[in-house]
Amino acid sequence: MAINTQLIHGYPVFDEETGASSIPLYQASTFKQAGIDQPQAFTYSRFGNPTRQALEEAIAAIEGGKCGFAFASGMAAIASVLLQFSQGDHLVMCKSIYGGTFTLAETVLKRFGISVTYVDETDLHSWEQAILPETKALYLETPSNPLLKITDIKQVVALAQKHELLTIIDNTFMTPQFQSPLSLGVDIVIHSATKFLNGHSDVVAGLVVVNDLALAEGIRAQQTVLGSILGVEDCWLVLRGLKTMGLRMAQAAATAAKIATFLAAAPQVKAVYYPGLASHLGHEIHLSQASSGGAVLSFELADQTAVLAFSKALKLPITAVSLGGVESILSYPATMSHACVPPEERARQGITEGLLRLSVGIEDAEDLLADLAQSLAQIPVATTVG
Ligand SMILES: *Cc1c(COP(=O)(O)O)cnc(C)c1O
Repeated sequence: MAINTQLIHGYPVFDEETGASSIPLYQASTFKQAGIDQPQAFTYSRFGNPTRQALEEAIAAIEGGKCGFAFASGMAAIASVLLQFSQGDHLVMCKSIYGGTFTLAETVLKRFGISVTYVDETDLHSWEQAILPETKALYLETPSNPLLKITDIKQVVALAQKHELLTIIDNTFMTPQFQSPLSLGVDIVIHSATKFLNGHSDVVAGLVVVNDLALAEGIRAQQTVLGSILGVEDCWLVLRGLKTMGLRMAQAAATAAKIATFLAAAPQVKAVYYPGLASHLGHEIHLSQASSGGAVLSFELADQTAVLAFSKALKLPITAVSLGGVESILSYPATMSHACVPPEERARQGITEGLLRLSVGIEDAEDLLADLAQSLAQIPVATTVG
């Protein structure tokens, strides 16, 4: 089944009892039991709810996994996965990890005696060097945020298998449509469904998918005791959003590729970061493990003055944090996602005062291109053309 058919028919999409064309909202905390001595599927909504179960079955099917879990946010999903580790355990994570995950590791995991080493995600050798006797897992995010750095998933999985470690990936930027980490041997896939999966900038949600039943049991236990479940209304909205993910992603990624090519040729732009561009570091690795460059790109203007003039002139994309909505979203990492990183460290990572990130929406490409062109025309030509 190809993706668009799968998104409409590849999991229990319709209500079996009534034939309703969407899974109903089971707005209930508890379920009347037939008898004190009779077990039943649903008893209490923190343990399980039919609307949430529908979403969990959907994401498992779409990611090609056995079990899915829906959480109150991407961070709740990440926390539930990482809190399975114990005092004395060590994790290896890519250096350009999502900011919230970094904060979780540094402020919460550390307090519980779980340590983390951050490595250059593009260099297999640095992953291998970081592995200690107490290491339990390798945690990847590819492409990374905001510079879209690429990690070779298969190589990291092979390394993990050699050392008997788990692999965990945050697959938010690619979606299951463009990158299927479970099929590459990754053990745990995490999504911020707030982004492309829901796709409408109206829900905060997180999802986890695994193949291994023992791992699934562990994550279910965390979901139940931490209680960070996704509410039924939000489950329903994500289920609805999923049905159009194929169309949205195809449109947004095709436009992103056009925009990346356009920006790479613009004299005001110093650099473009987009895994779909042949000039992007890791482009070939990316295309060996994903079917598209995706819908997020970053680009660098001369300085903050240029950024201010450009963003003021831009009419269509909204300026906001987050990504993955139907509307294009422009963000400025220096004051938004990476504001808490010291300026010197930001500069070292390549997150300069001229860097902007664009999450491309589903608007018509020609309108976005025209808008970008008229905004670029407001700023002087940068010195380095790239
Ligand atoms: C947004 C995001 C998260 C966090 O998700 P929330 O839904 O905001 O909690 C994690 N990872 C990546 C890559 C993200 O973009």
